[in-house]
Amino acid sequence: MNKSIKLTENRTLGRYAIVTDNVSAGEILFEEYPFVVGPKSNSKLICLVCCRPIDTDGLRCPKCKWPLCEKCVDEQIHRLECEIFVNNSVKFYGAYGSENEVCLQLDCITPLRFLLLIESNPDRWNTEIQLMEHHEIARRNSVQWNVDENNIVGYLHGPCGLKKRFSADMIQRICGIIEVNSFEARTKSGHEIRCVFPKTAVMSHSCVPNTCHSILASDGYKIFVRASVNIEKDTPLTACYTFTMSGTLARQEHLRKGKYFTCQCARCIDPTELGTHFSSIKCKKCDDGYVVSTDPLDESASWKCMVCMNIISSSATSQTLSAIQNEANGVEITLFTPEGIGKCEYLLKKLKHKLHPNHFIQIDLRQNLIKMLGRTPGYQLNELSDIQLKYKIDLCYQILSLLHVLHPGQTRVRAMLLYELHAPLFLHGKIAFRKGLINDTELKEILTKSIDLLDECITILQREDVSSIENKVVYVAANTLKYLQEAAKNNFY
Ligand SMILES: [Zn+2]
Ligand SMILES: [Zn+2]
Ligand SMILES: [Zn+2]
Ligand SMILES: [Zn+2]
Repeated sequence: MNKSIKLTENRTLGRYAIVTDNVSAGEILFEEYPFVVGPKSNSKLICLVCCRPIDTDGLRCPKCKWPLCEKCVDEQIHRLECEIFVNNSVKFYGAYGSENEVCLQLDCITPLRFLLLIESNPDRWNTEIQLMEHHEIARRNSVQWNVDENNIVGYLHGPCGLKKRFSADMIQRICGIIEVNSFEARTKSGHEIRCVFPKTAVMSHSCVPNTCHSILASDGYKIFVRASVNIEKDTPLTACYTFTMSGTLARQEHLRKGKYFTCQCARCIDPTELGTHFSSIKCKKCDDGYVVSTDPLDESASWKCMVCMNIISSSATSQTLSAIQNEANGVEITLFTPEGIGKCEYLLKKLKHKLHPNHFIQIDLRQNLIKMLGRTPGYQLNELSDIQLKYKIDLCYQILSLLHVLHPGQTRVRAMLLYELHAPLFLHGKIAFRKGLINDTELKEILTKSIDLLDECITILQREDVSSIENKVVYVAANTLKYLQEAAKNNFY
C-alpha cells in the first residue's frame, strides 16, 4: 500500500481501511495485480483468455479443445484449467442453440483458476484471501448459491474429478468471494472480464464513494486506486460496488442480490438522496410537492408527498416508473439520429410534469442528448445554433452539479462531461463575440475556461489504459488543448 492505510474492524462495516494521513484528490492509495482474472458468469461463447467472442465452430485449444483464440494459445493462465480438462477428458459442448446463447460450462473457469492458484500460493491464502468477505450466511441457499451448487460444485466434482482436492464448502466460498469482490474490467480488445484484487477489497462500500480506480489491461490488469476527493485523516476508504448513477431502489436491489448486504449509507437512508431528488416523483395532488419513499431501504414501503402528505403505494409508484422507463428505453434505438434528439426533447418536456428535474430517468435522457448534440447528422457542432450550444452547455453543467453531490471528485464521468462541455462553451463565446454581445476580455475568459476543462479532463482520463476509449479521448483532447493554448497566446479566435 502506497499511502499510510490502516486496517481496522467494527460490527457494522466488518473489516475496513482508513487513511492515517490527509490525502489529496488524485493520489494513489493502492496498486496491485489481480489474484485472478477470468470470464464473467453467464458468458457467451468466448476465448477463455482474452474473452473475445468465438464462432460456434471456431478456434479451440489444441490440447483441451475448449474455446481459445490463436493469440492466446500460449498464455500461461489457460494452462491451469487446461491440464485438468486434459487429464479428466472434460469435453466442451459449446453454446446451447445459437451463437448468442450462454455457455454454462464457462462459469467454472474463474472459480477453478482461483482454487488452483490458492493451492499453489498457500501463503496468500493465509495472509489475504481467507480474510475476504463472502457473506456466507446471507448467501447460503440463495438462488445463486443453488445455481453455483449445480453448475460449479457439481461440475468440478463430477466431470473435472476434483472432489478430493476441493470441498463443496471451499468451492462455494470461492464463488462467494468472486461474486462479492470482483471488479469488472475491459480487455485490450474492449471485452468484459472480471478480476479479484485482495488488497483493494478491504475498502467498504458507499453509494457516494471517496475513491476511484483504473484497471490497466495492457499491464496485466493492474489496478490503481486513487482518492477521488480530498480525504481527511481517519476517514474510511470507500468504493461503490454498484452504480452511483442509479436510484436508491435499483442500487439496493443490486447490492442485496449480488453482494448480499443492505447499504445504509447517508445517501441510501435519505429519501431525497442527499437533497438531489434523484428518485423523486412529482405529486399529482398538489402544485409543487414531490413524492418520496417513506423508507428507502424497504422496497415495499409506501411513498409520500413532502408537501400535502398524499400517500401512494409502492406498487403504484413502481408501475408509474416502469411505464416511464419503458418509454425512455425506446430512445435507445434512435440514438445519434435527428429523430433520437427529437424524442429525447419531447420526453423531457412531457416528464417535467411527472418527475423531479433531477430524476435519474431524466438525467439519463439528458446524458443521451449531450452525446448526440454535436455528433448527429444535421446536429454536428458547427451546425448548432447559439441556442442549441447554450442548451448543451446547460445540460453539462446540470449533470456536473449533480455529480458533485452523488459521485464527487475526479471520476471518469466527470472527465467525459468536461470534454463534452469545452467545445460548445468556446463556440458559444465566439458567436456572442461576433454579435458584439461580449468583449474580447470576456471571450478570452471563456477560452481560458475551455482550456481548464480540457486540462482537468486529460488529467483524469490519462490514468486509463492505452487501449481504452478514454485514451482516445485524451489524444483528441490533447490536440485541441494545444490549439486553444496557441489561440490564447496569439489572440486569434
Ligand atoms: Zn484469446
Ligand atoms: Zn487447453
Ligand atoms: Zn448506499
Ligand atoms: Zn402533494
